[in-house]
Amino acid sequence: MANQSYEEAIEGLKKLLSEKEELKGVVAAKLQQITAELQTVTPSDGKKFNPDERLKEGFIHFKTEKYDKNPKLFGELAKGQSPKFMIVSCADSRVCTSHVLNFQPGEAFVVRNVANLVPPYDQTKYTGLGAPIEYAVLHLKVENIVVIGHSSCGGINGLLDFKYDGPNITDFIEDWVKLILPAKKKVTAEHGNAPLEDQRKLCGKEAVNVSLGNLLTYPFVREGLAKKTLALKGGYYDFVKGTFDLWTLEYGLSPALSL
Ligand SMILES: [Zn+2]
Repeated sequence: MANQSYEEAIEGLKKLLSEKEELKGVVAAKLQQITAELQTVTPSDGKKFNPDERLKEGFIHFKTEKYDKNPKLFGELAKGQSPKFMIVSCADSRVCTSHVLNFQPGEAFVVRNVANLVPPYDQTKYTGLGAPIEYAVLHLKVENIVVIGHSSCGGINGLLDFKYDGPNITDFIEDWVKLILPAKKKVTAEHGNAPLEDQRKLCGKEAVNVSLGNLLTYPFVREGLAKKTLALKGGYYDFVKGTFDLWTLEYGLSPALSL
């Protein structure tokens, strides 16, 4: 079955599900079957992808090449962690900071989400970010929080494309990236005539600054900055050019490092 007809079938079942409460069990089973069939579609090279095998192989590689070869490091980590960094980066599969910044186990406490956002302090809406920031600052006592943006970010591109002039067309994404609307407004006002690619890049960097600003709404972050036990940094990884920019909270006031 082609993907198109799968999608149509799923849509039809979802419609049915919303209309007929008593069919829920039947429809759920059918949806599960279609999903399972979709997952076994053979890629063009003729090899069937086996996710369980990939995960097992990945762990065996890590175990033999890293874990077993570094008993001292993993012995220490078994007792606890004291990372110097908290990283907020995008969930994008191309921007894993353990690879890009060569972080080893125990070095960085990492939170990843769409468009590497830090929402403002809000105990009712944003516990998903509030909890790790609180834990990192107050319990792990990280010395640096680094928010890292990246090139070709789907979240940033979405922010620039979404019209916000009617009902949402996504369940979550528009409301989530709306948190960095000030970045879009700034870039559109100052660089509205620039090529779209340039606007995306500028918006990605400005979004990092919005998140850095939002970090200041967390009382324990402000306290850490006042005591100089904590520093806030912005970063931008361009995987098209292979470059990494790093700057401190005072964007534009302190010299940026370009690698
Ligand atoms: Zn992204």
